[in-house]
Amino acid sequence: MNVLVVGGAGYIGSHCVRQLIAAGHRPVVLDNLVYGHRRAVPTELPFYAANLGDAETLKTILRKESIEMVMHFAAYCYVGESVTAPLKYYENNVSATLRLLGAMLEVGVKKFVFSSTCATYGSPDHLPMTEDLPQAPINPYGQTKLDVENVLKALATAHGLSFAAFRYFNAAGASEDGAIGEDHNPETHLIPLAIDAAVGKRPNLQIFGTDYPTPDGTCLRDYVHVDDLSRAHIAVFPKLGEPGQRYFYNLGTGKPFSVREIIRAVEKITGRKIPVIESPRRAGDPAALYADSSKVQRELGWKVKFPDAESIIATAWRWHSGHPNGYGDEA
Ligand code: UDP
Repeated sequence: MNVLVVGGAGYIGSHCVRQLIAAGHRPVVLDNLVYGHRRAVPTELPFYAANLGDAETLKTILRKESIEMVMHFAAYCYVGESVTAPLKYYENNVSATLRLLGAMLEVGVKKFVFSSTCATYGSPDHLPMTEDLPQAPINPYGQTKLDVENVLKALATAHGLSFAAFRYFNAAGASEDGAIGEDHNPETHLIPLAIDAAVGKRPNLQIFGTDYPTPDGTCLRDYVHVDDLSRAHIAVFPKLGEPGQRYFYNLGTGKPFSVREIIRAVEKITGRKIPVIESPRRAGDPAALYADSSKVQRELGWKVKFPDAESIIATAWRWHSGHPNGYGDEA
């Protein structure tokens, strides 16, 4: 299948591009390179440096490349920034996405895979989290993703769009060969920050909150390998054949790890001690988030290849060891 990967130079998008190639598909990448990295995309692939909200350019690409399906990864994803700059988030994550969807429908492309988030659930009143929990985001980031989910439902009804929305838990790790990985600027995620602190690139790692009602007082999260995530996106293709199909899946391993457990695992994999500072809670962090992923396992035959923190961190460490400064190292 010819698949347009919007945001295909970003962290999750670039891993999905490689999985698409491995599965025999033909990815075409669109990315405005604001956060994405050109070097994360194989040079032999068609690549368009353009904005997802540029409907005219989108229509030209969809026609020229005979696109049959669009995968959309191009979102702003900093929760804190979404609170202080909500318009930026609504403009990119919602308005520009509407223009992308409008361009698709005009050209007759009606298959869509969307990267949503467990942040659409807000602070859950039930664990592990199933897909039928109430969705009540507690920040604009989560709200923008939920808004798009709702638009997709309306488009399925009105225009026969077939879509799958994957609600990610904590995407982590890097490609097994260490060729591509996580390189955010600014970096806010626990595992890359812990690795940086382990190697001395940062002086220490702050633990945000040690008084949560969890076994060791730190937050519990569900870390899922980026390649496992990507494989689910491709496993859903056969379900999108008929018009008007709609699917929602949680993507997590279902196994929670605390911040302290992640720190211990990073210390074990890197063989180095992480200087830690116990700090106050970070605003907006729920105590525990982890998935019930039985639906995606049952319906898509999804199997996790990286079931534990250490196997995920080992891939992140391989990427980091080969690229201590991320994509900036490569000429
Ligand atoms: N965290 C932390 N120190 C950091 C970064 C993150 O203690 O420097 C904690 C954070 O409070 C959360 C967990 O690590 O409980 C995962 O945070 P991350 O930002 O990686 O992902 P999120 O769960 O916010 O999507």
